[in-house]
Amino acid sequence: MSFKDLHIIKPLLRAVADSGYDEPTLIQQRCIPHILEKKDMVASAQTGTGKTAAYALPILQILFDKQDAPKRGKKIRALIVSPTRELASQINDNFKTYAKFTNLRSAVIFGGTSIEPQIDILKKGIDILIATPGRLLDLHKQDYINLDYIETFVLDEADLMLDMGFIDDVKKIERLCPEERQTLLFSATIPYKVEQLASTILNNPIRVDVTPSKSVANAISQVLYYVPKRNKIELCLHLLRNTVIGNILIFRRTKFGVDKLEKTLLKNGYKVDSIHGDKTQSDRQTALNKFKNGYVKILIATDVAARGIDINELDSVINFDLPNIPDTYIHRIGRTGRAGNIGTAYSLCSADEKSYIKKIQESINIQIPIEEDHPYPLDPKAKPIVHKKQGSKYKKGRKGAGAKKKKKRWY
Ligand code: AMP
Repeated sequence: MSFKDLHIIKPLLRAVADSGYDEPTLIQQRCIPHILEKKDMVASAQTGTGKTAAYALPILQILFDKQDAPKRGKKIRALIVSPTRELASQINDNFKTYAKFTNLRSAVIFGGTSIEPQIDILKKGIDILIATPGRLLDLHKQDYINLDYIETFVLDEADLMLDMGFIDDVKKIERLCPEERQTLLFSATIPYKVEQLASTILNNPIRVDVTPSKSVANAISQVLYYVPKRNKIELCLHLLRNTVIGNILIFRRTKFGVDKLEKTLLKNGYKVDSIHGDKTQSDRQTALNKFKNGYVKILIATDVAARGIDINELDSVINFDLPNIPDTYIHRIGRTGRAGNIGTAYSLCSADEKSYIKKIQESINIQIPIEEDHPYPLDPKAKPIVHKKQGSKYKKGRKGAGAKKKKKRWY
């Protein structure tokens, strides 16, 4: 199937060809015809499947077809709400790329950065607005944004939006849009709370499921290293020196862990940067740009900071800490092996993470090959350290044996 078969108009076909796309991805094939028919839609698809173009192209086409309407450029006619600033900027970049042979204008607004330049752009007039919820409501309250003319409302990464606590904001935004409109909801996963939201804000939606969460792209090779927790940094350095190639995204669970690993890698002479929630927007954007431009080869990130970011030609992902939720593992490794490239995901698993890897393997239905040939093997009998609960039989036993109650010491 070609984009022409999807009845995409010429200016968009040119932009798509310029982007080097030969044919529509599966999600594009499934979504574009329905969106062009102005149907509501709930689509489950992860970043990396081509989902942004799946809604951006038909939205641009609908707006372009009605371009001689006097509203053009004066009223915001499409609104895309995204949970993170990085994803919002990326969506705007996509819109700009696909709209370059049209006269349609888009802009992005998000918090954590100066409001004035965003107000200036809004004053000039745009057709499509991409926004994070907080800044959108803020600028709406200040009367710089009018949502009365929205024809299509898109919620992207809806599951993350709810995880980040944006549910009330999303509902407020939805109420500010006209009732007569098209609504599209994209989400990597469709848990119950996303279903619930969909049932309140969408009207008889078409359901498209392209990437069931169990599917892991075949283009990703996975490898598992069992390692004592205390040796993870050494193993990571060993892998960076001997095994892992290209540009590398390393995931850590906490901001503290990200900072700690960054310092160690810098000390060892690696060019590295990091993103997490405590960094300013401009630091995060700079880090991302440096990584995308190849100035640094290693980026360390927490899950929330990295979610939704599209980094082309990512060669390797290292799961320094394993996530306790299988879907998070799938999102992480989905960053590599895109667009026909082969990528590798390396997972470092300590004794206390064995239950996580078990759940992950059950979820993806794959036994991840184990690499035993490395200098820091985990003793197969190693048991996770279990912190004894208050009132456990051990404690009772000690008390019973006449153990003195220890005085609490505050360090
Ligand atoms: P997304 O899932 O929207 O984040 O897209 C992931 C990547 O796929 C982006 O780098 C897009 O530029 C790229 N992409 C989107 N559509 C296509 C296509 N039809 N063929 C090849 N690459 C595409």
